[in-house]
Amino acid sequence: MLLYKNQYKYKKNLVNLMYIIKTIQIYTIHVKVLSLSLLWMNRNLRTDTIILRSRRIGELHKGLSCLTRDAGVLEVMAYGAGKGKSKLSGMIDPFSLLYFYLYFDPVKDNYKVTDIEQLNVFPEIRASLDKFYTASFWAELILRTFSGGGESEQIYPLLADSLKILNYSAEKDHILILLQFIWRYLGIAGFTPDIENCGRCGCSLSRIPSLWYSEAENYFLCNDCGAGNFFITISPGGVRYLKHTASLDISGSMKIGLDKRSAESLRRVLLAMIQGIVEYPLNTLKKGLLYNM
Ligand SMILES: [Zn+2]
Repeated sequence: MLLYKNQYKYKKNLVNLMYIIKTIQIYTIHVKVLSLSLLWMNRNLRTDTIILRSRRIGELHKGLSCLTRDAGVLEVMAYGAGKGKSKLSGMIDPFSLLYFYLYFDPVKDNYKVTDIEQLNVFPEIRASLDKFYTASFWAELILRTFSGGGESEQIYPLLADSLKILNYSAEKDHILILLQFIWRYLGIAGFTPDIENCGRCGCSLSRIPSLWYSEAENYFLCNDCGAGNFFITISPGGVRYLKHTASLDISGSMKIGLDKRSAESLRRVLLAMIQGIVEYPLNTLKKGLLYNM
């Protein structure tokens, strides 16, 4: 009876042991599959992309600077895209909105395009000089001031929406989409000055007839603090417009009008703010083209 009991116990332990070994084996296989799929996922990236800059590399290839929704700004190789016959060649012009299939080559240490779906090429931006300069300015600004990080979740939709609006907008609205892009970009970068109170004395700016902007301090100033100091003057209508449209999405903001004088003074101030956050002047601003749209 005792022997039987021990035999039973021995068999039970053996079954338990085999069960444990089996579980470990299954677990090991799962870990292997998981690490292989992680490796695959890390090397293969599929993401919405906007081309910021395209340059020829040798006779056959193109190097692309892109803003991606999922990985910020990336440098990507489009092999063979310099050949006229290539499927890629007509799709990778600046400002095109694409869905990219990318592969990271660990030997060459770069991403290459393996496939593309075209979402929007914005033909109207290419057909108008003002629209083209505006989009070129946005692209240069992003390339110069933004390299990646969590902000790509905000910068990507801002640029994609702004390009769509710019593409379809009437000539008189170019300046509004330019202002909206800059003000929102500065907000994401954490560079917007206080628009409620004077940056020096703290008084409320809401009912003051003339306002000033100090580039050195990045402050809006009341008349007492700002007048006669070579600061840029800004129309109170422009400040009211910024306050009012801040709570709207960018398409909603396009329904709010702004008089020409306020729009122009706001453009001078916002472009000065942009120059304040870049180390040396942007090429797209040097020619003064954006000041005369
Ligand atoms: Zn003041």
